[in-house]
Amino acid sequence: MLVKEIKELRSLIKSWKREGLSVGFVPTMGALHKGHESLIKKAVLENDKVVVSVFVNPTQFGPNEDYDSYPRDINKDLALCLNAGAALVFNPEPSEMYFDNKATTVSVSSLTSVLCGAKRPGHFDGVCLVVSKLLNIVTPDKAYFGEKDAQQVAVLKRMVRDLNIDVEIVACSIIREEDGLAKSSRNTYLSKDERQAALILSKSLERAKDSLKNGERNATKLKEVIKAELSKEPLAKIDYVEIVDSDSLENVETIEKNVLIPIAVYIGKTRLIDNFTFKIYTY
Ligand code: AMP
Repeated sequence: MLVKEIKELRSLIKSWKREGLSVGFVPTMGALHKGHESLIKKAVLENDKVVVSVFVNPTQFGPNEDYDSYPRDINKDLALCLNAGAALVFNPEPSEMYFDNKATTVSVSSLTSVLCGAKRPGHFDGVCLVVSKLLNIVTPDKAYFGEKDAQQVAVLKRMVRDLNIDVEIVACSIIREEDGLAKSSRNTYLSKDERQAALILSKSLERAKDSLKNGERNATKLKEVIKAELSKEPLAKIDYVEIVDSDSLENVETIEKNVLIPIAVYIGKTRLIDNFTFKIYTY
């Protein structure tokens, strides 16, 4: 079922809640793939009803980013959601989500000045605004987000805690292509050569895992390992390579506790991200 209006969505959700049913929520921007599908399937296992939103959110794109060209195919997305077991897809127009004279911003300060936040000014304000609105509209018990966007998960967990929003944020593992490339709606932008070149992201993270297995704990040296691997690919241009505390996202010098190792790399004009979390007790 496709719902375009907030009023209709709210009345459906209220009727489910009156029956005592739990609600899971998966926010997306559409052009859905197996990464999104894994979130929906997890939500279906853990909730009575699952709502997926498909909304290319204008407020999280910078002026020179890909809002207009972002892939959109609502019929394909709807079929994927229903096959995965979702009860409905919420696909509002921007005018349904945003008032012309909106005056409210939602900003999570400390976690958003680094990594993608530093490179994409205003991006996380847009994400926080749309996710807080969607959580207020859907009022889910649990909301599902991918670790592919690890900074987003950290920011949203903090936002939900700080604003006492009554929802559990569930972080889900990264789903990859067979050759290791993290699935992304933006992979459709890649030419054949760029698609091949994009493998350098996951390869460089594998090199870092090898070094960690061999006992390397110096963050600078580890970042050099990743950068050296990335620089082997002529089509790749590094945006950032960082090693940060998993919760605070602050830089670490020596790896003594769980760290997030996120990278952002341009392959041609397409900016791709990838990461892994190193859990100290597993090595
Ligand atoms: P997007 O449509 O790109 O905004 O993504 C919607 C949700 O799907 C976000 O929580 C993403 O982190 C998640 N997601 C996107 N790609 C993947 C992936 N390859 N594996 C797991 N989750 C993903």
